[in-house]
Amino acid sequence: KTRWKTDLEIAKEIKLKRIQEIAQELGLLEEEFEPYGHYKAKISLDVMKRLASKPDGKVILVTAINPTPAGEGKSTVTVGLGQALNKLGKKAIVAMREPSLGPTMGVKGGATGGGYSQVLPMDEINLHFTGDLHAITTATNALAAFIDNHIHQGNELRIDVRRIVWKRAVDLNDRALRRVIVGLGGPTQGVPREDGFDITVASEIMAVFCLAKDLTDLKERLSRMVVAYNVDKQPVTVGDLGVEGALTLLLKDAFKPNLVQTAEHTPALVHGGPFANIAHGCNSIIATKMAQKLGEYVVTEAGFGADLGAEKFLHIKARFAGIEPAAVVIVATVRALKMHGGVSKQELSVENVDALRRGLSNLQKHIETIQAFGLPFVVALNRFITDADQEIETLLSFCRDHHYPVALTEVWEKGGEGGMELAEKVLDMIEHGTNQFAPLYDLHDPLPDKIRKIAHAVYGAQAVEFSTKAQKQMAQFAEYGWDRLPVCMAKTQYSLSDDPQKLGRPTGFAITVRELKPSIGAGFIVALTGDVMTMPGLPKEPAALKMDIDERGQAIGLF
Ligand code: ADP
Repeated sequence: KTRWKTDLEIAKEIKLKRIQEIAQELGLLEEEFEPYGHYKAKISLDVMKRLASKPDGKVILVTAINPTPAGEGKSTVTVGLGQALNKLGKKAIVAMREPSLGPTMGVKGGATGGGYSQVLPMDEINLHFTGDLHAITTATNALAAFIDNHIHQGNELRIDVRRIVWKRAVDLNDRALRRVIVGLGGPTQGVPREDGFDITVASEIMAVFCLAKDLTDLKERLSRMVVAYNVDKQPVTVGDLGVEGALTLLLKDAFKPNLVQTAEHTPALVHGGPFANIAHGCNSIIATKMAQKLGEYVVTEAGFGADLGAEKFLHIKARFAGIEPAAVVIVATVRALKMHGGVSKQELSVENVDALRRGLSNLQKHIETIQAFGLPFVVALNRFITDADQEIETLLSFCRDHHYPVALTEVWEKGGEGGMELAEKVLDMIEHGTNQFAPLYDLHDPLPDKIRKIAHAVYGAQAVEFSTKAQKQMAQFAEYGWDRLPVCMAKTQYSLSDDPQKLGRPTGFAITVRELKPSIGAGFIVALTGDVMTMPGLPKEPAALKMDIDERGQAIGLF
């Protein structure tokens, strides 16, 4: 039996072009990019001014069915489709999120795609990259320090120390930091209070960073962030503390999109990385908009299934950025469909056509969701070498019977060559498919109605239950004038419902909204369902146990 090369082994074999070459191929001027080492660069926001009158490239959104814990290959297909479009002579750019060290060291691994469809250098991108996540972490913690100092210095804003909602952040899975007490040790150590940490990719600054249109907008959004409530229960913002300038300054280099290349030298902008289960789940607006200026096609991904990332891409990011996607790719795998058909995780590589057939209901629901948004789509069957021919045929014929465009995709194994059928079908949908993109809710709908519309149309829920706390919050948010904001749902990625055990296409279920979190800077209200946590924990055997470095300084064990 042949052993397949790991993503890292493949990555190391590929001879990269110098980043200057990639930048020149993109038409960037010498002064518009700053190399970070040989294979990464930051792109100046001035590009947007120079190309302001150039027509925007078309956006192709890559989403998926509800995944297994390993992921279903959205990043891989995103990269592979970008490569395939380039092979067809189109000027395509990939726009992706930056990986978080939480999942990289935890269960899921990095987020640079896989096989012959990766963004490179994968070890650098998956570890510290250009430091953007560290900058966001630092800005988050700087703000926490300013709040504590403000209270220590006399608390002019009359902040209620029991009602500070700003949390500190670290870009790791570290359950021990979920709840902490700070300020212990007497009067010179600050004021004791209960605090906590979020993972950086769940922080509001990450969301703000990804939704800001330019530096001015970034500063305004940071200024609007609510950090606490005062003793009269009125919101206290960053603007009240007067530190929005300092926070924006800390982010000034991070805010420039990062340029790298794929395994086949397709340009890729990798920038910003909010989680899709607790945040909005897409790369920065500034990177997507820049890619639209620099290329004819932008292939971009939204995290987890269409119930999470795509819904938020279409309701939040597209709305704020004025993006109308040209087409959607829905990634499905045989293994995830079998899981939805009731197969346990250990048996997913064993042929089981019946289970696969049962699991197709999950794919069907996500297709209906994309149809509800009025968007043309193609199903990408991301082929694994363990897939049996009969399983593949079952999935393909299901799509053919329903007249769903489908393409067998082998970009992991073959790079762009394995995505030619997908690329051709996507181009065909963009050219000939009907596109009547419209959101499923209106910003003027009251908060509970927005949540109900998402739950019904996207999850297939029968009802939404609001906890007493959530009801009180909704009434209060209407008073603060926050009820006209979009909603950012926080939900498990494993199920269409808020219960990770309910696989396939559950029916007759209710979604429980237990709490709301105002992210006024980002410009949305987070609705927390189920047990979704803003600080994950590590598993019993974290991926970190397999990580190492050899004597030449080469990374080992990243995936
Ligand atoms: P997602 O973006 O949906 O989370 P990724 O593209 O990151 O998924 O893929 C998750 C993991 O699965 C990666 O390690 C990748 O190398 C691997 N993978 C993806 N597609 C395939 C495939 N067709 N065959 C084998 N491994 C794959």
